[in-house]
Amino acid sequence: MSEKYWNALWEEVKSGCTCVTLDVYGKSHKTVCICTRHPETPTIPIITPLSNFVYTLRLPSRIPALLTEFLEVMLFVIQPLSNTAVYTNPNAVKEQAQEHSAHAAHLREIFDPALIYQEIKHKVFDPSGLFTHIGETLKHHCAPMRDRAVEELVQFAQQPGIEAFRAFRTCLELLELMKLDIANHQLTQLRPWLLRNTGVFEVKAFKLRFGADSSLHNTREWLHSARDSLLARKKPIPHPSYPSLLDYHLFAAFLAHKQPIFISSDVTDLASHDPVAIFLSTGDTLSGQVPSGAPQLRGH
Ligand SMILES: [Zn+2]
Repeated sequence: MSEKYWNALWEEVKSGCTCVTLDVYGKSHKTVCICTRHPETPTIPIITPLSNFVYTLRLPSRIPALLTEFLEVMLFVIQPLSNTAVYTNPNAVKEQAQEHSAHAAHLREIFDPALIYQEIKHKVFDPSGLFTHIGETLKHHCAPMRDRAVEELVQFAQQPGIEAFRAFRTCLELLELMKLDIANHQLTQLRPWLLRNTGVFEVKAFKLRFGADSSLHNTREWLHSARDSLLARKKPIPHPSYPSLLDYHLFAAFLAHKQPIFISSDVTDLASHDPVAIFLSTGDTLSGQVPSGAPQLRGH
């Protein structure tokens, strides 16, 4: 799908054609261009039947939406809130937030989607200078290991002619990686805070949803009965990660030492300080992955 999108976009940049030919079942058909009949890019799709079974759609331009999205993603990547220190030390981020706002303003200044669209339409768009500025800004925000990719992107945009337009795709792919870098960085920074507060938050959410008088009695019962049934098993448990079968008693002893890593203390209280019961009674553990030694945050 993504490849089809970029091919269609590239075709539009080269020739202005936005035609898509489909059959009556909605399956794509070899494109029959109707641009000579409708030379102006429409604001709403124009349908032209070619036969009883096939028709061509002359679609509105895809470029404005791409440019707007591109700018939004760039602004997201350099947004001040990407610094999670705002939660732990708000004063420390003030200066940085000002700098980020200045970068955002600069990007908005040099990246005007409407103007760029007009330039592309009239084939006078030269992305080399634009991407040099974008590269300089991104380098302030990316992890050092991304510097090389940013430099390559800037180089890529120096190609003569419309070929340089492809830099948009390369840049979007890089921005996606940067978004992941930010998410990972945020998780790392927030981990101690999350470990401290997740349990409290979940109990609060539980009470909000089920009422202040709600009890965790059933949950405790469920965890204990699952644990008891596992303890009662005489045979080891088949498990994909343990070819030699999983011995619950050994596994329980192993997990007991990992308690602070796997689960927050508030939730552990539910199972009377026995984290093993929680993991082995969810069903996920037995059918899926046994928690490894890697730190894990609970996903919900
Ligand atoms: Zn066409």
